[in-house]
Order: sequence, then C-alpha cells, then structure tokens
Amino acid sequence: MSNVLVINAGSSSLKYQLVDPESGDAAAKGLIERVGTSGGHLKHESGKQVDERDIDVPDHTAAVAAMREAIERGGITLGPDTVAAVGHRIVHGGRNFTEPTLIDERVESEIERVSVLAPLHNPAGLAGIRSAREAFPDLPHVAVFDTAFFADLPAPAATYAIDRTVTREHAIRRYGFHGTSHEYVSAQVARFLGRDDLRQVVLHLGNGASASAVLAGRPVETSMGLTPLEGLVMGTRSGDIDPGIPLHLSRVAGLDVDGIDDLLNRRSGIYGLSGHRDFRDLVSAKDGGDDDARLAFEVYVHRLVKYVGAYAAVLGGIDALTFAAGVGENSAPLRAAVLERLGFLGLTLDPHRNEERSGQARRVDSGEGLPAVLVVPTNEEWAIARHAVETART
Ligand code: AMP
Repeated sequence: MSNVLVINAGSSSLKYQLVDPESGDAAAKGLIERVGTSGGHLKHESGKQVDERDIDVPDHTAAVAAMREAIERGGITLGPDTVAAVGHRIVHGGRNFTEPTLIDERVESEIERVSVLAPLHNPAGLAGIRSAREAFPDLPHVAVFDTAFFADLPAPAATYAIDRTVTREHAIRRYGFHGTSHEYVSAQVARFLGRDDLRQVVLHLGNGASASAVLAGRPVETSMGLTPLEGLVMGTRSGDIDPGIPLHLSRVAGLDVDGIDDLLNRRSGIYGLSGHRDFRDLVSAKDGGDDDARLAFEVYVHRLVKYVGAYAAVLGGIDALTFAAGVGENSAPLRAAVLERLGFLGLTLDPHRNEERSGQARRVDSGEGLPAVLVVPTNEEWAIARHAVETART
C-alpha cells in the first residue's frame, strides 16, 4: 500500500508526514521552521531515528527540497511507486471548496482568490502547493480544507446579523475551522459508542481552540467564524469579544488594523491574560498562586462551560462531550474544572479515568450509558491522508 505525503505549510514553517492511509502509521514526519528567515531548522523523525539540524531555507521551495532529502535519506524514494497522493492542508476554502479537491491551475487560482478571507494562512498553503507540485509533478495533489466539514452549517448558525448587502458582496458568513479534526473526532466517537445518531459536542483545544455541535454526524454549530479568531479563549487569540472593542480602541488608543490584528491574534487569549501561552505553564503558575494565571484559567473554563451549555440547547440535549487536541487530550485539571460545572446536563467525570494517560480514544466519565464524556486523540494528518487517496482515486 502506498503512503500519502501530508503537507501543512505555514507562513514560516512546513510540517509534513508520510502516512499510511489504512493504518494511520507515519513512516516519517518532520517540521521545518523559520522558512524565509535566517536560522532555519529541521527536525525529522523516522521510526526511532531523529535527524535534527540547522538548514538554510530561504523559501517554501527550499523547505520542500529539504523535506524530500530528509525522507529519501531514510531510504524511501518519493515517487508514484511509493506515494499515492500528496495531501495539502488548506485553512480557508471560502464558499466554493466544500470538499477535498484535486489541484490543478484553476484550483490554485481559486485558493489564491480566497486568500482575502485568510490572509495569514492561505498564501502559505498555496506556496506549499506550488513548491510541492513543482517537486512532484507526477503525483496527484489534493487540497483538504479546514472549512469543508462546516460548509453545510444550517443558515441560522452560519449567518451574521449584518446588513445583507454587505455580507453577500464580501462572502461574510461563519465558515468554521479545524473541520478535519471535528469530522475525524466525531466519527471516532460514533464508532466508539456504536451509534450514528448522537448529539455530540466536540472540543478541539490546542493552540487554536474550537467547539462544534454535531448531530448524527453533521455539524450544526461551531465556534469559529469568518476567521479562526471567534469563539473560545485560545493560546494567544481572544475568541469572542464585543465587536465594539476594536472600534473603541481605534478611537481611544489610535490602533490601526494591523495593531488590532496583532492584539487580538497574538497578544490575547491565555497569553494576554497571564503571560503564559502553553497550557502546562499556565496550570503550574496557577497552582503556584499566580493570580493572573488563575483568572486566565477561569476565563478559559467559563467560556467552555458557556459553549457546551449553548450547544446542548442547540442540539436539544447531549449524548457525548469529547475533548481533543493538545490541551483537551492532556490536561486532566482542565477537564475536571469544566466537568465540575456540567453535572446539570447529566455529565460526569471519573477522577481515576480522567488522570489515566493513553494514546487511545477512551471514556473518562463514571458511567456506561449516555451521556458519555470522552478523550479522543485527534489525527488530522491521517484524516487528510484518507481524504487525499479517496479524491485522487476518483
Ligand atoms: P496542539 O495545537 O493541539 O498541538 O496543542 C498545543 C497545546 O497543547 C500547547 O500549547 C500546550 O499548551 C498544550 N499541551 C500539550 N501537552 C499538554 C499537557 N500535558 N498538559 C496541558 N497542556 C498541554
């Protein structure tokens, strides 16, 4: 069975994984950082072997070449005999990309056109596509969009109450992000519980964080909107705020668009509240008596409780609440703090199950029936790999 090469290109990074789409096993994976600046760095892992060194990566083309060299050094030649497809993670699909799409010139141009909706993310994804298509012209390349799972969000959930002539002209609606993860995790939960009619709330809590409400496999609400800034409190992003705040700050503090962008995307969230962007550091500081860290933790938890309650209302009840991604999978104290306030929905938490560490999907509540509380390790690379082979085949 051929592998799929999954590429996630950021503005100054390139993350990659060579994944078996059947099993999800990664034959090789790596991260190239500081692309386009001085002091580039590669960390490549293949089995137990780690190759880590400083490299010169002036652009994404150089990063793709470095990735290829690192993988081929490990004995896997990348070509049609070994790679079934290249899957590219693209953040914003806009209105038109509602499913994984085989990439050609026209698709590249359309992704470029959509960049206006995701100026921080899509240009990097496109640079990754262009470099990889140049390096591997004989392989099918597939774009997998973070927004796609939410393309059919019901209109009342997707619509902002703003003058309709403006929203129509500028394609302003709630798109949702982390869709690949919400789709994968909610499907895992359905399989785990053996039911496909569930009312699910999924919390993807990583550096970026989002919630979704999923009814019988289809999303009916999600916390991110036009951009990945709306919703939950995140590592450095504010999530929901009064839309009047940027207006007020531009009037009283003279902040321009870039200043507001920087404030809300990079100097807010738990970092803005406490100085800690890593959730482990936040919990340690809180436990050490730091008041700012305690407040940041409480604001983070409060927002989660509010969303779960709201989504239970949207779904008409809740059968499963699931924690995923870096914070969700690993922070037992966070799960405990959230569940402490959700007993009214019938949700419970078993303190021992909550503390157990495992790389597997598992229940952490104290019951056997529904509603259930779960921890499910997300695996966006595997989900992208599966979408890529399916799309390449058709
Ligand atoms: P992700 O974006 O899914 O890779 O998640 C990254 C975030 O997960 C980091 O910023 C950490 O704050 C958080 N994280 C990772 N490991 C742990 C842990 N053991 N406890 C709490 N948070 C963690």
